[in-house]
Amino acid sequence: MSSFTSTSDGVRAAERLRPTVRVFELHGPGAIRVGHRPLPPRGALLRVETTGVCGTDHHIWAGKIEIPLPQLLGHEVIGRIERLPDGHALVAPGPLAVGDRVLIAPGVPCGDCAGCTGGDRCLDRPCYGLTMSGNGLTGGFAPYMTLLPGTRLFPVPDGLAAERVVFAEPMACVLSALRKGFGPRYVPAGLNGLVLGFGVIGLCAAVAIDAAGGTATVVEHDRTRRELAAALGFETVASVEQAAELAHERDGFPLVVDAAGTPAAFKSGLSLLGWSGTLIEIGNFADLGEIAVSPSDICLRDLRVVGSGETFYEDFAPAIALVGSTAVDLTRAITDVHRFDALGDPAELFTVRAAGKAMVTFS
Ligand SMILES: [Zn+2]
Ligand SMILES: [Zn+2]
Repeated sequence: MSSFTSTSDGVRAAERLRPTVRVFELHGPGAIRVGHRPLPPRGALLRVETTGVCGTDHHIWAGKIEIPLPQLLGHEVIGRIERLPDGHALVAPGPLAVGDRVLIAPGVPCGDCAGCTGGDRCLDRPCYGLTMSGNGLTGGFAPYMTLLPGTRLFPVPDGLAAERVVFAEPMACVLSALRKGFGPRYVPAGLNGLVLGFGVIGLCAAVAIDAAGGTATVVEHDRTRRELAAALGFETVASVEQAAELAHERDGFPLVVDAAGTPAAFKSGLSLLGWSGTLIEIGNFADLGEIAVSPSDICLRDLRVVGSGETFYEDFAPAIALVGSTAVDLTRAITDVHRFDALGDPAELFTVRAAGKAMVTFS
């Protein structure tokens, strides 16, 4: 437990002996600072191995998504169980033991809402790194995390590289979106798809299309990201106009995934679909305004629009399996690795936009 430090002067001796953990606290848009929080003396605890930096973290840091403050960011968390008391109330597919390598599902059932008490799906899931304010260890950009009762844990094979596992949480989001569109097969076999935007969500969508035997075509105007997509084996174009030429040749795309996250991309996605095509909207997580669309176009061309904000627990294990098995070399998409102990100013995580995936490591 070498990451623990003692609390500052001016506290009672007993308090001084209590170990604390270095954390990055967000206090407002652009205001993230190093802090120290007490290590909880009891309860289930995770020793964090790797935490992915998500586009959502960037939006929150910039103030585009409002959350309660102060907040510890980081919700794409891989680690090992450090402490596991009897009656821990964690939820996992099998028995848990200290030392197990796991991925957490960031949402935790609240235990109180109508979904929790009567149904089987929490309607008000608090989420590590997004909605849990207070003084706890509730974010993944810290060497230890509290595992609250009800947290879902998914086993991660010891031999699977963290550079692959770190894609599992965003992949689960993508698989849930595809499940909403096509059911538990995620993507129909051999279905070709157009992916708007090659951030991490776009990358995961392209991998899922590839895994089902289809061709994924990526639209990305940023040259570095487009070159990354090509290096990973995907067909690429630089603009919606070029994608429209392809759509014209191919009678439209049967599947478009909007992972670009702008209202304009949503509208473009509709126009690039073929008859009875499906648009999966998994990009507009921040409200960037409105755009005019023609409902008759959706009606007359039998289009389907599937939005997806919620990630289902049942998609985490398939996501871990897919990031482990895909022939796409995901490790090449890791472009920024930050060692937590070496990060003097946590703002470094958010002021630079990674070309691929960024992650924070702990050791
Ligand atoms: Zn995320
Ligand atoms: Zn609930």
